[in-house]
Amino acid sequence: MQIPFDNSYFTLPAQMFTPQRPAPVRDPQIIAVNRDLAALLGITGDLADAAVWAGNTVPAGANPLAQLYAGHQFGHWNPQLGDGRAVLLGEVIGTDGIRRDIQLKGAGRTPYSRGGDGRSWLGPVLREYLVSEAMHAIGVPTTRALAAVSTGEIVLREDGPLPGAVLTRVAQSHIRVGTFQVLAARGDITALQALTDHVIARHYPGATGPVDLLDAVIARSARLIAQWMGLGFIHGVMNTDNVAISGETIDYGPCAFMDSFHPDTVFSAIDRQGRYAYANQPGIGAWNMAQFATALIPLMPDRDAAIADFTARVHRFADLFDAAWLDVFAAKLGIADITAEDRGLVTDLLALMAQDQADFTNVFAHLPDARDQFLDRAGFDAWRQRWAARRSPDAARIMAQANPLIIPRNHRVEQAISAGVAGDFAPFHALLAAVTQPFKVTAETADFTRAPTSDERVTRTFCGT
Ligand code: AMP
Ligand code: MG
Repeated sequence: MQIPFDNSYFTLPAQMFTPQRPAPVRDPQIIAVNRDLAALLGITGDLADAAVWAGNTVPAGANPLAQLYAGHQFGHWNPQLGDGRAVLLGEVIGTDGIRRDIQLKGAGRTPYSRGGDGRSWLGPVLREYLVSEAMHAIGVPTTRALAAVSTGEIVLREDGPLPGAVLTRVAQSHIRVGTFQVLAARGDITALQALTDHVIARHYPGATGPVDLLDAVIARSARLIAQWMGLGFIHGVMNTDNVAISGETIDYGPCAFMDSFHPDTVFSAIDRQGRYAYANQPGIGAWNMAQFATALIPLMPDRDAAIADFTARVHRFADLFDAAWLDVFAAKLGIADITAEDRGLVTDLLALMAQDQADFTNVFAHLPDARDQFLDRAGFDAWRQRWAARRSPDAARIMAQANPLIIPRNHRVEQAISAGVAGDFAPFHALLAAVTQPFKVTAETADFTRAPTSDERVTRTFCGT
């Protein structure tokens, strides 16, 4: 296999990473390879070479390393995290001219592994593959999945021994808020400046310095979280080390899409306080941008003036989010000429949905005929009349592009994982085929539109370790 590496991260100050080869695994076997993505990246040759995707063979031109970062985990500062189970093989410039990282996740221990084994079990690998590719197909900025392999090794987790796997992940970069935070916390201004220059050149070439960079990252994050809200998506671990500076969704741990809607929904078993509940995501997004702003302050000549200025910029997150949220939901309702009054139309529908625990995806997919999703049918009828007055003549077309019919429902993801653990990857492949065509239903994929029965429903997810 030939991967046209064009690496740049290793030219940054050496304290920002550690050269690290992936640790070989016993018996790598291909689970999936994303051929379309490989073509976009200019990768040629035998794409089914499991040894490459497992880290057993380091391809020519790779410059494997583990990245240093820190982060606030559930609000608590952790001064050193870093790639504890991931190795960045290198970067490629795709046929679209965009530079992207190729990273192996589950590739063995690194100096940042702390107590961890550096490995991943099959569950999080399949979950991330399915959900990230679904997000991409829906049109949400996200990291991608390039390959998944089983390792032929067992990893030990709380529930006992589980089959190991490695995910090859592609991202515009793996630079996080926490990558800035670790350098700011160490007072390493030289590296912080180098990182800022790298990020501007790589992701925000229009920005002229930290102030512009902050504004641009705030704008992208606000838009991203509005898109999550429009899908009933709950990220689950919005720690600052899981916030990509590129504005892509990253680190699909205990994430899930809601079936029946309620704003307080939490899936992650470790999120006991509901910090990262559905409705809290925009507020946490702003909080994370405040941490990013704080990490940029050391670059500013007048610290006090910068604190005042950055505070005002972070406060704009709420307005940017509100505008993006209204955009997202107006499209979901087929409204072309959005006004502030449409906000009430959206929140009233969401309130009805929450009251009746209506299925988030299917309500939007079946409007205007979503009446049977509601117990309060009179309430829905009254809402539908108000909505009819605001719908664009072009509503059906707008809505068809804004409302996916198929999402990776949590119980389906869990079924795919259970079957995979038993050695059967057919459910995984069937689900992957369905969720990567989210706006189209065929005879093969029709059953994936069905909301879970009360017996099928899966309401808990576990961290991706
Ligand atoms: P996460 O919350 O899943 O993004 O992970 C937080 C931190 O823990 C990151 O620095 C990971 O690299 C590290 N980590 C998670 N799982 C493992 C593992 N099995 N071995 C080593 N490090 C891990
Ligand atoms: Mg992480």
